[in-house]
Amino acid sequence: MIKTKARSYAAQSATSALAPLAIDRREPTATDVEMEILYCGVCHSDLHTARSEWPGTMYPCVPGHEIVGRVTRVGNRVTKFKPGDLSAVGCMVDSCRTCAHCQAGLEQYCLAFPVFTYNGNDKFLGGHTFGGYSTSVVVDEAFVLRVPAGLELAATAPLLCAGITTYSPLRHWKVGPNQKVGIVGLGGLGHMAVKFARAFGAHVVLFTTSPGKVADGLRLGAHEVVISKDADAMKKHAASFDFILDAVSAQHDINTYLGLVKLDGTLTLVGAPERPLPVAAFNLILPRRNFAGSAIGGIAETQEMLDFCGKHRIGADIELIPIQKINEAWDRLLKQDVKYRFVIDMASLKGN
Ligand code: NAP
Ligand code: ZN
Ligand code: ZN
Repeated sequence: MIKTKARSYAAQSATSALAPLAIDRREPTATDVEMEILYCGVCHSDLHTARSEWPGTMYPCVPGHEIVGRVTRVGNRVTKFKPGDLSAVGCMVDSCRTCAHCQAGLEQYCLAFPVFTYNGNDKFLGGHTFGGYSTSVVVDEAFVLRVPAGLELAATAPLLCAGITTYSPLRHWKVGPNQKVGIVGLGGLGHMAVKFARAFGAHVVLFTTSPGKVADGLRLGAHEVVISKDADAMKKHAASFDFILDAVSAQHDINTYLGLVKLDGTLTLVGAPERPLPVAAFNLILPRRNFAGSAIGGIAETQEMLDFCGKHRIGADIELIPIQKINEAWDRLLKQDVKYRFVIDMASLKGN
């Protein structure tokens, strides 16, 4: 298979900093779209993966799955895109497309496992897939999204993971008016969850460990902000929530939040800390609570989310960085010091 070169930033091991690396991209096949990457968001999953906090990281690891770019070439059977179009890629670049879950538009739960944008099995070039901390990418058009007109491009990139990962569970559990909804953790995912829950008409309560984020929480759309270390403030919300979305990246006491869910309400995890979270049985038994999880969203739902954001002018609140600042940005992510998504300006990688 013919290959072209792209520039990237890669981790060579769990402990090494990200550094420049030339990588191969495939020549577009008949159904492929090749795009120049303009912006790539920085997800905490990039860090979990590159630092081997989750099992199965393959090196070198080129992270990045919040990709917005411009189409440079298309294969001769591509119908949705032409050179010059804006385009976007999220966490997946392929799936089996035939299993029951794929057929239902739930490619993220593909029974044969989806091909993730990075750290997935590359069936074209062998080895593993490389993500969006790079200058270009080639993806089958079925997994390429359209960017609605009028959105600011850098602020759109985080929608491809942080956006869909929060939009999907809020829709699945039918969050809407007359519901009290809690969002835990004001990071990349959390701040999108606050925006969506508010846009869907719910009463939104943000839980944060960071007193410095209270004003931003209210500005982003929360009706109330609770400092989760304040036991009295937490107690006031006991057994009162219809739905809580937990977007915390590190170990924390989930039982505190289960106690805030009302009868038949649900607490859904999207945050994926490294180690298991203990759950006290009685926090589920009394009064009959649901404890659930959710992964990103399917391709059709991702397009629906992007179109919703286009219509309602929703984007992420971002800090734009050159790729040379990526290691510093990751250190800040670990200190909860991000407002509220780092986005890499990929122009900084040209000529690097
Ligand atoms: P992020 O921007 O780093 O935000 C995480 C937030 O969690 C922080 O801003 C902080 O909010 C809170 N937090 C961090 N450490 C904490 C601690 N020790 N105790 C309590 N709260 C703490 O991360 P992200 O990119 O939004 O990702 C969040 C998690 O979701 C990660 O684990 C990521 O891998 C996962 N994820 C899952 C999916 C999925 O499909 N399920 C998709 C994408 C990401 P406060 O300062 O407000 O407390
Ligand atoms: Zn992500
Ligand atoms: Zn499948």
